[in-house]
Amino acid sequence: MSDCLFCRIVAGDVPATIVRDSARTLAFRDIAPQAPTHVLVIPKEHYDDLPALTATDLDLAAQLLHDAHRVAAAEGLVETGYRLVINTGRDAGQTVPHVHVHVLGGRALGRLG
Ligand code: IMP
Repeated sequence: MSDCLFCRIVAGDVPATIVRDSARTLAFRDIAPQAPTHVLVIPKEHYDDLPALTATDLDLAAQLLHDAHRVAAAEGLVETGYRLVINTGRDAGQTVPHVHVHVLGGRALGRLG
């Protein structure tokens, strides 16, 4: 989708600091990091959100989570721990309608809620 920011990053039309590039997913640093490590992992194909992805391609959804873990490992977060977040819809605060996993770590993140 040419009007989707993350599709434009996949296409190379918008610059990003890419940390992992695999056949079906791309990982790049968040432009406004909320933790010392804050990476977004996305499918290269466009899906608006997690339900759209899982309804169509569960293998890709699993790949997305697996690659998020690989990013965390590459960032040295496995021993200390990390958080994966997938905001879905308005109340969750999803601002970019292309499904993405936030990989957050490098500090104590506190409890949710
Ligand atoms: P959401 O709020 O869960 O949809 O997360 C969207 C994330 O995308 C936010 O954390 C933004 O800081 C991040 N973001 C927005 N534009 C860019 C960009 O151009 N490059 C990298 N991250 C971005």
